[in-house]
Amino acid sequence: GVVLSFEVDEAVAAPPKASPVKSTKSAAVDWVVVEVQVAKGGGKGLVRNRGPILTREEVRVPRPVPGRKVQLHLRNEVLKRPDGALQLHDLGQLPLLHEPAVLHALELRFRGDCVYTLTGPMLLAVNPFKPLPKLYGSERLNAYIKEASNEKKDNSRASPGDEESKDGKREEPHIYQVAKAAYEGVWHRSLGQTVLVSGESGAGKTETTKFVMRFLALAGAGGTESSMSKVERQVLDSIPVLEALGNAKTLRNENSSRFGKYIELQFCPPETGSPRLVGAHTHTYLLEKVRVVQQQEGERSFHIFYQMMAVLSAGSCEILKSIVQSDLQSDLQVEMFNYLRASKCFHLDADISEDDAFHETIDAMRAFGLTDDLSGILSTLLAVLHLGNVAFRAPVGNSEASEVLPSGDSALHAAAKLLGLEAKDLADACCKRTMQAPGEGVITMQNSVEKAMDSRDSLARHLYDALFSFVVSQINATVSESKGAAWNQSLAGSKKVKLLPFVGVLDIFGFEFFDQNSLEQLFINFTNELLQQYFNEVIFEHEADLYRREGIQWDPLDFPDNHAIVDLVGGKTPLGILPMLDEECITTGGSSEGWCSKMQRAHGSNRHFDVVKLRQNNFVVHHFAGPVEYTSKTFVEKNRDALGADLVKCMKNSSKVFLQQLLKVSDRSFGTQTSRDAAGAQRRTKAKLYTVSSDFRGELQKLMERIRSTEPHFVRCIKPNQKNVAGSFERKSVVQQLQYQGVLQAIEVSRVGFPVRLKHRQAVKEFICLSPERVQVESQAARGQLASAARLLFERLSEPLSPSPSTPRTPRTPRTPRRSICVI
Ligand code: ADP
Ligand code: MG
Repeated sequence: GVVLSFEVDEAVAAPPKASPVKSTKSAAVDWVVVEVQVAKGGGKGLVRNRGPILTREEVRVPRPVPGRKVQLHLRNEVLKRPDGALQLHDLGQLPLLHEPAVLHALELRFRGDCVYTLTGPMLLAVNPFKPLPKLYGSERLNAYIKEASNEKKDNSRASPGDEESKDGKREEPHIYQVAKAAYEGVWHRSLGQTVLVSGESGAGKTETTKFVMRFLALAGAGGTESSMSKVERQVLDSIPVLEALGNAKTLRNENSSRFGKYIELQFCPPETGSPRLVGAHTHTYLLEKVRVVQQQEGERSFHIFYQMMAVLSAGSCEILKSIVQSDLQSDLQVEMFNYLRASKCFHLDADISEDDAFHETIDAMRAFGLTDDLSGILSTLLAVLHLGNVAFRAPVGNSEASEVLPSGDSALHAAAKLLGLEAKDLADACCKRTMQAPGEGVITMQNSVEKAMDSRDSLARHLYDALFSFVVSQINATVSESKGAAWNQSLAGSKKVKLLPFVGVLDIFGFEFFDQNSLEQLFINFTNELLQQYFNEVIFEHEADLYRREGIQWDPLDFPDNHAIVDLVGGKTPLGILPMLDEECITTGGSSEGWCSKMQRAHGSNRHFDVVKLRQNNFVVHHFAGPVEYTSKTFVEKNRDALGADLVKCMKNSSKVFLQQLLKVSDRSFGTQTSRDAAGAQRRTKAKLYTVSSDFRGELQKLMERIRSTEPHFVRCIKPNQKNVAGSFERKSVVQQLQYQGVLQAIEVSRVGFPVRLKHRQAVKEFICLSPERVQVESQAARGQLASAARLLFERLSEPLSPSPSTPRTPRTPRTPRRSICVI
């Protein structure tokens, strides 16, 4: 008989933590490697932890310790070898494909400084949190660039999955390889490409994006910086500018991007003969502008403010010096400003000179043609800071009204001067509001102190948002300018008018859930839901393609599908959560409570939606990545995000040309708002156009259409630990990220089909002992006919052992639910 022996087993699961909300998915478990000792004669076996990454626990099987859910998975032979994981470039090739195997392999690779691993069509990138100069240095970069140009001559096709190089050696997966594949895609196939980078905050998305951009800017220049064209250089120069204005120190990442971006890197069409970057367009999403007026303790506002303060104290910027000298008191310090002071955090941990960073930003801005606007930009930034110091009080005897506190007077004058306004007008726009009363003309009402502070903060947020949009649009205008001229010329001759091929790089927030989740999280999670839907489609195609090539039928029923959640949040019929919010925002007297209860009535029975019994104003959405509880309290207000009509009017009277320019760019904040407060039907239609949600969903739809028109490359960034340190791999947190990012779901798909995937040679070796035609199989294998040897072996094995004479011998039906081996 055959003795099947379990040598070492992979994992024991700790009990999932009780989740505060009903979960449709199992919570992440912490896997450990254990050894199974099977007692003689069956009986109870003992599972004993072993190895360097284990705890000292013992668990009995088959009867688990009460309250502990024990799952065992067989461990892959390859992972038992010290170098096994390091040679494993594609997790799809793990013979036994399951969650702990993936985790274990990733950990082993991480410990060997193998940052990148493929799983099927996606690249996993585990943040090393330490510089790896050899991995990214110019030698490595140039090798890939050279390959791209050699292959260009061969006119061969490459994709990130085909990493078998010419001499048959497997190459390590690399982000440069993805960039190279995208580069070749635009070049050989003239097909738009998108690199979709995802991951939680601090996982390395932005760094990844920069590696791709750098590769693509340098590829056309043959890898030498000095041969880069002006545009290629400018594309890279846009990075520090966007980071200064859009990044901030948070508790999770010192250089956290507080906006999402999709950068389209445009290439010249193939008919021009040389594949070079000729332009770029950056789309930005959801700048976290509330950060301008408040931050959590230990976090900072946007970098630019601190850079500016550092430069002021060093006196190293003439423009800034002259702004301050003419208008303000001269010894401005970071600690003076309420907007920067409250979070008690002023410095970065990293050894970075904010002074140098400022000059880099300013130099880059100059390169983008912002020289004449620099003074306006810096004045506006200073004005925002001064606004935060304008304090209010209720005048004696009128608790419903407000006026500027004497101590806030100098800040008011400073802000007004910087914005080109009269101090009194600015104060009035915060402390009063005018309304058009039917039949009574314009009436003026007093704002309470609280309302005045809200107005002030709202102005600061909108000004900053406008400034950010202005700078981004200026960068876009400059970087795509040269492209426009060159293209129109070269295309005019060929009479072909088509879009420039581009590589899009998407760097957008990953799935988020905090203790308190609000509209921002719903936007972010909805975005991730849409990206996941797209990812599912691509994975589906990938798997279907694999099965097709192997000639195997498959049942796509178990495929992960999140369209029900997408519909719940953004659908039109029945009206989803966000469209219902829009309805509420344009209803007179609409409120977050009203919206929440309407929504609970409409979606209460949806299995992806839950009400929270003890917290009436909360609701739960069961996202693909897990359940998230949202606090509805501020949704309506945030979705309206209205800058009061009086503030808009006040700003429009600014004497500064720069401000006028700024207001024009930011139509959303300063454009048609006035019409919102006018009574009547006009209000409804205009307001409908300007909810944050409808605006964002419109942008998202455009983004998804754009991405769907391209070939995708998925990069999943993983944060190995929450301490942001090198060398630490927190398995539980990594499993969770693999779940949020759909990696585990994708593996699940493979498991539903064929969780065990063996090469022909290995399959024959492992199973020949079961074969009734051992000699024949062996001789075929010896002749090198591995595929037919495997076929012969498994065809006989899959037959019923003793077929009854009346049943014809039929091959095993391919739709049997419990398939487990796929020989490839
Ligand atoms: P995200 O954009 O996902 O929030 P970042 O790209 O800003 O994260 O990365 C956070 C930090 O992690 C970086 O500032 C850097 O210190 C480190 N880091 C990220 N990727 C790498 C890498 N490939 N090599 C070394 N350090 C990295
Ligand atoms: Mg980032």
